[in-house]
Amino acid sequence: MSARRTARRPEWDRSAVYIGGRWRETASGRTVEVENPATEAATGTAADAGAADAEAAVSAAAAAFPSWSALPPRERLAVLERVRGALERRRDLLVETTVAEVGAPLRVAREAHVDTGLDVLRAYLDAAGDLAWEERVGNSLVLREGIGVAACITPWNYPLYQVLAKIGGALAAGAAVVLKPAELTPLSAYLLTDAIDEADVPPGVFNLVPGPGRVVGEALAAHPGVDAVSFTGSTRVGARVAAVAAAGIKRVSLELGGKSASVLLPGADLEAAVPASVDAAMLNSGQTCTAWTRLLVPRADLDAALHLAAAHAGALVVGDPARPGTDLGPVVSAAQRRTVTGFIERAEAAGARIVAGGAERPAGLPRGHYVRPTIVTGVAPGAEIVQEEVFGPVLAVQPYDGVEEAIALANGTPYGLAGAVWGPDRDSAVAVARRLRTGQVDINGGAFNPAAPFGGYGRSGNGRELGRWGIEEFLETKALQL
Ligand code: NAP
Repeated sequence: MSARRTARRPEWDRSAVYIGGRWRETASGRTVEVENPATEAATGTAADAGAADAEAAVSAAAAAFPSWSALPPRERLAVLERVRGALERRRDLLVETTVAEVGAPLRVAREAHVDTGLDVLRAYLDAAGDLAWEERVGNSLVLREGIGVAACITPWNYPLYQVLAKIGGALAAGAAVVLKPAELTPLSAYLLTDAIDEADVPPGVFNLVPGPGRVVGEALAAHPGVDAVSFTGSTRVGARVAAVAAAGIKRVSLELGGKSASVLLPGADLEAAVPASVDAAMLNSGQTCTAWTRLLVPRADLDAALHLAAAHAGALVVGDPARPGTDLGPVVSAAQRRTVTGFIERAEAAGARIVAGGAERPAGLPRGHYVRPTIVTGVAPGAEIVQEEVFGPVLAVQPYDGVEEAIALANGTPYGLAGAVWGPDRDSAVAVARRLRTGQVDINGGAFNPAAPFGGYGRSGNGRELGRWGIEEFLETKALQL
């Protein structure tokens, strides 16, 4: 099974861009190889598009926009239902592709990447059906219209989900899309485009231009024909995208990094909260923007929490992501592995205590970009490992004295994307969650909701994705006075 799943598939050998409803070669004819992070072997190819291809895609989207946005919403939704059906028919291939290009373990690829992506698309369809596309306000008729051409720029950590979180809202709103997926993980975007092609989405409504961010991404962000830029990625690149887009007064939505805290209040169920927090920190090898990378515990519970966290992290199975039973695959690239182990080494050099894992390679895995699930403690609130996004399987455990200090620590980074509060009862946890400067908080293990708004405070970005909020990012509002 493992050999079959890691084998190269014909669907992964691609060289074209998708513009105006048809596949065409890039202007340069160049391609790039896609690496399997578990084997370090090439697993496919993708187009290495350039600025001329971005230009052609924006023209195609601009030409398609008027009739797409003029369709009654229910007709657009019928098209998107067909896309969802075509994706469902490719579910197994999408899972296999996610394992191959991200290194996500099978279960994570199936549940967190593909099925959650499909759930998000379903929630967009439901929200669009309920949206007030027109409403009367006094003597005005207020209309909601698609914003125009939307450039969507996405990261490699959840390549299918991140794309669906953008294009589901954009297409439902009546915008026309140009997608630039991350260079490291373009293959799921190709499969999505196959589904879009099969679903007879009108030509030009969706266009795919895989290529380097600094070339294709910047060309899209700067292009005068682009009305909205929706970016998910690092805070550093997000700032650059916003600066480039500012000259054209485009709407810019930014979904950026995070350094989220899981706060255990006195009296919380440690046996439930600690393993769940470790799992949330390690999911997708820690390459999750919402990862709870800090665990805040009452000082009296520190030893017990460390014991539980180390035992849980130590029991996680690290290895071949294609093998059922694996908990953690590799991180996405050699560069990412160096980044993550560098954080661990510097934390240790600064006096942190490593209670599980560490920077050295996991035993028995000579190839692949593997990192051991790592728990550190003895870190100051201002330490690099506490303040900066690692984007790897690393959890920092910090004790606090009193709930006020817990809230101050939780709010004490420049980020504010997600987090958790665990309390002896829901009300006490909610009371603390109300004071956290962050976009999402899970209360006592509350489940992800694909219809709820998702986005960040502070340097975690601005704008919201998912459900009604994710559609509104791509809407203009017009008032007719009657
Ligand atoms: P990244 O390096 O910022 O890249 C994100 C996307 O931007 C990629 O498609 C990249 O293209 C492109 N890009 C790079 N330079 C660009 C430029 N100058 N102009 C326009 N586009 C450019 O981020 P990443 O390393 O892929 O992803 C990890 C980061 O994403 C983490 O910080 C994580 O927290 C964040 N993230 C946030 C969320 C959220 O919803 N808040 C979700 C997931 C991830 P190439 O890669 O092809 O060069």
